[in-house]
Amino acid sequence: MDFNDSPEEAAYREAARAWLEKNAAEHKGGASANGRRPNSPEHMAMAKSWQAKKADAGYACITWPKEWGGAGGTPIQSVIFGQEEAKVGVNYGYFTIGLGMCVPTVMAFADAGTKTRFVKPAMRGEEIWCQLFSEPAGGSDVAAARTRAVRDGDDWVINGQKVWTTGAQYCDYGILLVRTDPDVPKHKGLTMFWIDMHDPAVEVRPIHQASGGSEFNEVYFTDLRVKDSQRLGEVGEGWKVALVTLMNERLAVGGSSGPDYKLIMDLARQTSGPGGPTMKDGAFREKLADWYVAAEGLKLTRFRTMTALSRGQTPGPESSIGKIIAANQMQDMSNQGVEMEDQYGILADPSEAPMQAAFQQSLLWAPGLRIAGGTDEILKNIIAERVLGLPGDVRVDKDVAFKDVPTGR
Ligand SMILES: Cc1cc2nc3c(=O)[nH]c(=O)nc-3n(C[C@H](O)[C@H](O)[C@H](O)COP(=O)(O)OP(=O)(O)OC[C@H]3O[C@@H](n4cnc5c(N)ncnc54)[C@H](O)[C@@H]3O)c2cc1C
Repeated sequence: MDFNDSPEEAAYREAARAWLEKNAAEHKGGASANGRRPNSPEHMAMAKSWQAKKADAGYACITWPKEWGGAGGTPIQSVIFGQEEAKVGVNYGYFTIGLGMCVPTVMAFADAGTKTRFVKPAMRGEEIWCQLFSEPAGGSDVAAARTRAVRDGDDWVINGQKVWTTGAQYCDYGILLVRTDPDVPKHKGLTMFWIDMHDPAVEVRPIHQASGGSEFNEVYFTDLRVKDSQRLGEVGEGWKVALVTLMNERLAVGGSSGPDYKLIMDLARQTSGPGGPTMKDGAFREKLADWYVAAEGLKLTRFRTMTALSRGQTPGPESSIGKIIAANQMQDMSNQGVEMEDQYGILADPSEAPMQAAFQQSLLWAPGLRIAGGTDEILKNIIAERVLGLPGDVRVDKDVAFKDVPTGR
């Protein structure tokens, strides 16, 4: 494992830092430490202008081929830039799903005309994409999609519902996984399309969250007509296409931002419990030691992923460990932080609450992080099967025609 940048990586980091120092200042103030976005027009405008600036400088989509406007760089360069960008507080969340998952899928499966039309505007932040996979009856089990597409001449007619679609309310386009053949087993009857989110047959209903925001949505399709030319991949091969999207999701290195053990130590220095100062409390100190050990383990695991990227290798399924640890630690630490703040723990306004409400906000965000991009249980299954080589999960519906899978009704 390499702990240090190679000379080339150090030079890249230095150049990125210098560029950020020169350009980030006027775009600060919009980033959210915990993944929440205010979704205001001003915030969006700021995010789009920052994205365009990065695109002009070759920092928007570092690993994408130059012919599509990328920098033709390496995954490790992308990680390095992401680390430096996070430090200067200009990390907007609007483009992550589109540029990290949807557009790479379009690049892998669309024809040249489609790519010419969509890739550059997405990279510059002019158009935003969403991922329409999860449904009320199938989230972890992506292949259980029930949204139906039926062929009609040169068109397909789509009816059904998706849910938890991040950003659908401000997205322009989406990639949509649908069932085109219910007579074959679930993985074989799926097809992927790109769709226009502004089509009147697409209805977006924001979901109001406990945190006060509405980051994701229900999306309904009522006789939505799409051209066959909007198909990504072959008919019936949507699962293969979805795997490319999901692989890109799992490859997202970095993990969650939010309070760390140093911040809770700061809080402990300022607070007291019934037995005296929190910092002297044995139970707190025990927890602090656990968080420190987990944070160090996580850091080393990330170094392992970074080392693989640096050597031009693809990180393995062990990168699933990172999200389980980070999300659970965030939830546990935030819970403790809010309790330590006593009556002030109920204030979530950053201008009023201690530590700018970092613990309150991450307490509300942590459960979502434990679900998004693979729940704890699904990631544990991946680790068990693909890292530890344990026997596979029970998959009783794998070889059954989708229409014959019992639905409980
Ligand atoms: C913040 C956030 C953003 C999201 N954004 C998007 C998006 O943009 N687009 C999109 O398509 N989806 C999105 N999702 C949806 C997300 O992918 C799903 O919520 C997730 O896959 C879980 O699916 P589910 O909610 O249907 O839960 P279910 O799959 O119904 O799971 C319910 C429970 O059962 C457990 N479980 C399920 N299967 C197994 C198994 N085989 N073994 C053991 N336990 C199991 C799960 O771990 C969970 O605890 C988002 C979710 C969140 C929280």
